[in-house]
Amino acid sequence: MVRTVLILLGAPGAGKGTQATRLAESLRLPHVSTGDLFRTNLSQGTELGQKARTFMDAGNLVSDSLVIDMLFDRVGQPDCAGGYLLDGFPRTVAQAEALQQRFDGGEDRVVIDIQVPDELIVERIIGRQSCPKCSAIFHTRFNPPTSEGICDHCQTALTQRADDTAEVVGTRLAAYHEQTAPVAEYYRQQGGVCAVNGNQHPDKVFEACQVCVTEAAA
Ligand code: ADP
Ligand code: AMP
Repeated sequence: MVRTVLILLGAPGAGKGTQATRLAESLRLPHVSTGDLFRTNLSQGTELGQKARTFMDAGNLVSDSLVIDMLFDRVGQPDCAGGYLLDGFPRTVAQAEALQQRFDGGEDRVVIDIQVPDELIVERIIGRQSCPKCSAIFHTRFNPPTSEGICDHCQTALTQRADDTAEVVGTRLAAYHEQTAPVAEYYRQQGGVCAVNGNQHPDKVFEACQVCVTEAAA
């Protein structure tokens, strides 16, 4: 059986989570976000969450070994047996290589790179509001919830992530350029990356992502 493994690359705030939610639903694939997995560990007070916290709060990447173990544990679960969608992983070439080594040849890998200029990222990050319960993503200006500060889907009070601040965003962007941008180059050499313009309405970004998936299957 061919398993689709859809990988979403892009800077912090590029719109990976927003598109991942929609793509996961339309493709019926589990949405695996390493950022969400860390935040769940944090809120549950696990040892992994404690270890990740200092890196996350400072805007740095968590060490490869911690991320890779956590991710492999998640994608080894039965719901991922038919494929999965990765949001926020891989973020280093070492992570990409580890994922590649885990594949057994039955994967249909699709890599989408959502591209947004740095100067737009800050406003996206500062205005992001997230639902701590269902992980839905909003924006005070670009995608406001119907009722201010309340999740449209589960009526939970929205929160701002601890790392979504003007102080931390610079470090996160630097980590992206230094450690994650080379991942797109790795996949370009490995067979291809579908580049999508993330600086357009989310519906348009979604359409472009769907074209990437269709073309990869052709
Ligand atoms: P990422 O997962 O890549 O960090 P998100 O999907 O969480 O990014 O999006 C970051 C912020 O930008 C959120 O507040 C989201 O509502 C907003 N956003 C996402 N896509 C767009 C878009 N195409 N145009 C404007 N704002 C967007
Ligand atoms: P995100 O929700 O994707 O923006 O991730 C939030 C934070 O979690 C990042 O700034 C990192 O500190 C950490 N993180 C998430 N995914 C990874 C990854 N693949 N590698 C290293 N750190 C990660």
